[in-house]
Amino acid sequence: MKSIFLELGGKEKALMTNKEYIRFGAPRFSEDEINEVVSTMRSGWIGTGPKVANFENNFAKFKGMKNAIALNSCTAALHLSMVALGLKEGDEVITSPLTFCATINAIIHAGATPVIADVNPLTMNIEPVEILKKITTKTRCILPIHLTGRPCEMDEIMMIARDNNLLVVEDCAHAVESEYKGQKIGSFGDIGCFSFYVTKNLCVGEGGMIVTNKSEIASKIKISALHGMTKDAWHRFSDSGYQHYGVETAGFKYNMTDIQASIGLHQLANIDENWKKRKIVFDRYMSAFKNLPIGLPLEQEPHSKNAFHLFTILIDKNNSGLSRDEFLLELHKEGIGAGVHYLSLNEHPYYQNKFGWSIQDCPNAVSIGRQTVSLPMSQYLNEEEITKIIDVVCNLFEKTR
Ligand SMILES: *Cc1c(COP(=O)(O)O)cnc(C)c1O
Repeated sequence: MKSIFLELGGKEKALMTNKEYIRFGAPRFSEDEINEVVSTMRSGWIGTGPKVANFENNFAKFKGMKNAIALNSCTAALHLSMVALGLKEGDEVITSPLTFCATINAIIHAGATPVIADVNPLTMNIEPVEILKKITTKTRCILPIHLTGRPCEMDEIMMIARDNNLLVVEDCAHAVESEYKGQKIGSFGDIGCFSFYVTKNLCVGEGGMIVTNKSEIASKIKISALHGMTKDAWHRFSDSGYQHYGVETAGFKYNMTDIQASIGLHQLANIDENWKKRKIVFDRYMSAFKNLPIGLPLEQEPHSKNAFHLFTILIDKNNSGLSRDEFLLELHKEGIGAGVHYLSLNEHPYYQNKFGWSIQDCPNAVSIGRQTVSLPMSQYLNEEEITKIIDVVCNLFEKTR
């Protein structure tokens, strides 16, 4: 909990006192994005309208998918996916505990029961063999998270899903650019869910996207995302005059607005260029840190494209001289914000009380969760900032040896 506080504390400090502070995942927008937002505001149409439709079309094209539905968060996308797929009370969804709490909360809000399976200690992604161990007669769905942007073992996961007649919803919050064996992440399962939150690779402030090739599911999702109404507000209030709508289901209020889509359109147009910039930072860190007494991420596997969302290092006090939390504090003092992705979810009291999870479950995820730190790796870092981060990290660990 302390580490999350530090991440927020860093942002506040940067805003209030210290302009030099390197904020974790802070976006910087270009004039293109700013002008697009302004033109949307001037147009008088700031709700769900033509820019959202453009953003959806462009995203579907980028992903090579039939349908893309823009929403106001990835949390909404995950929730709506499981509702649209018909999950109900008593159904079990197998997922990784090394994720943001939103993943598990979405399962709970869909009425289903989360079941956690341990991760591979090197990739940090859900281990297919561990999924098999957790399958019961109640299992309906597998929900893999492509953590840090590194794709999960989708061949094995899809085989398990087929053999056991299970649905697959992919949490692609870190994985907008990821590919596995030449296929885009988010296109393997029934539904792929993306996040455009502030710190994500493609950011619009708050936003999310669902992709699916199942058109029937897509239209269900579209209706449920806007109160359950048959026609969206764009059609209702367009120049063709008032149109009545029917309510088909008790839906939600999860639609994206044209203001968010205005930012998203330009972020998407720059996605390859931004990926290349993050890859450069990733490679710089890998070579600068290779002799430090810390755990480094795996290199990008030859068969996959890593989205390079997070650069995570593992800090074990016995080897590194500093504990993870001591390192976070030192980094903060030097003016560098960091993140923790994540404390394994079976460490949190709510889930322990509700599902009987304990820290004995998923030992790999617990161990990673206690050692992991994410260093800033955004496309917006400049040379000076990258050099500063490398120098500070190297000095901290060289000092302790
Ligand atoms: C950010 C994130 C989410 C939630 O995304 P929002 O758009 O903030 O709702 C879900 N899962 C993972 C792994 C995330 O990192």
